[in-house]
Amino acid sequence: MRCQKSSTQHSFKKLLTADCTLLTFIEMKRPFRGLRNQPPSEVYDAVIVGAGVGGLVCANLLAREGLRVLLVEQHYMVGGYCSTFRRAGYTFDAATHFYPLLGNTATITGGLLRELGLTGGWVKMDPVDHFHFPDGSSFSVPADFDAYLVKLKAEFPAEARALDDFFAVVREVYLHGLLEYFRWRVTPRLDSFRGMTVREALDRYFRDPKLKLLLAGDCGHWGGPPSRTSFVFDSMLRLSYFLGNYYPLGGSQAFADELAQKFEERGGHILLSSTVRRIVVEGGEARGVEITPSRYSCPPSSTRRSHRRAVTSSSCRSSRTWTSTRSRTGRRTRPRSSVT
Ligand SMILES: Cc1cc2nc3c(=O)[nH]c(=O)nc-3n(C[C@H](O)[C@H](O)[C@H](O)COP(=O)(O)OP(=O)(O)OC[C@H]3O[C@@H](n4cnc5c(N)ncnc54)[C@H](O)[C@@H]3O)c2cc1C
Repeated sequence: MRCQKSSTQHSFKKLLTADCTLLTFIEMKRPFRGLRNQPPSEVYDAVIVGAGVGGLVCANLLAREGLRVLLVEQHYMVGGYCSTFRRAGYTFDAATHFYPLLGNTATITGGLLRELGLTGGWVKMDPVDHFHFPDGSSFSVPADFDAYLVKLKAEFPAEARALDDFFAVVREVYLHGLLEYFRWRVTPRLDSFRGMTVREALDRYFRDPKLKLLLAGDCGHWGGPPSRTSFVFDSMLRLSYFLGNYYPLGGSQAFADELAQKFEERGGHILLSSTVRRIVVEGGEARGVEITPSRYSCPPSSTRRSHRRAVTSSSCRSSRTWTSTRSRTGRRTRPRSSVT
């Protein structure tokens, strides 16, 4: 988790409540509006559930093709795991702390962001990681692989040969893993590694416990201990670090907010603080969504109030169905609006 101290993105608002308690709220300043004073339309071509970075990119792509798109997010902000929050004057990333490839427009994902018109900018991370050991020492991972290997060998000279052998295998597994999992070209050359864990691979090549600890350092980040993490999966991620890791200028929230801004500029609608409770399926096709106000509301902003109005304006009940007019085959069907 990355954190940075800044005071640029938020301002504080004070409210005196009925019992004279002074409440201080953080008011978010965002470059997009969300549906504040207008309810969502009755009918959209597509409704996207969740304004994480996946939903935001998808929403932009559909809106760019001229579809009428509603993006529904339960939180009062966009970004999902690519959002930030503040504590004691510091800004924390909720989860994502580096964005592989995104600042490199020669890659598919970096090129896609340029196509969508994002101009926020990226900082190339170097070092890409900084590990701290229980003995108080630390190790920074340079962005360049050759520099990394030289540094590892200098730190662990007795393991220099083993490091060459290990990374030769990691590279082979990485390349065949990419072919198999991204190009669907199943190769027998992965067979002997398929069931191998990171722990088994490290034990096979190295003796130095500190080096093994260092090389297993990302497992927590991948979500499991080395004894339960796939060596193939780890190899693919381990080397992807060296294709370029980036961080958005202004932080993760600035990236997510800019995606939301571009989506609105393309005519898209964003409904915050609203939870999709059910996807309405008819004849095997998704035909609408039922939305209720969520518990993630930002008290002082007009957002919550207007969302409540939007959702309840034509009904005393708390949920409502928005329908899509476009079937899976692209055929337009009769709009349906129902309140549940
Ligand atoms: C701790 C951690 C660290 C990570 N670090 C990195 C990293 O450094 N680099 C990297 O590349 N990746 C990292 N990842 C992975 C990366 O964050 C995710 O792959 C990515 O953010 C997923 O985006 P998403 O849009 O698919 O989902 P999410 O970000 O989960 O977004 C889903 C959104 O949908 C909303 N939602 C869910 N249900 C509903 C509903 N019913 N109605 C309305 N809204 C709903 C949620 O509120 C959320 O905003 C990390 C993940 C974690 C957990």
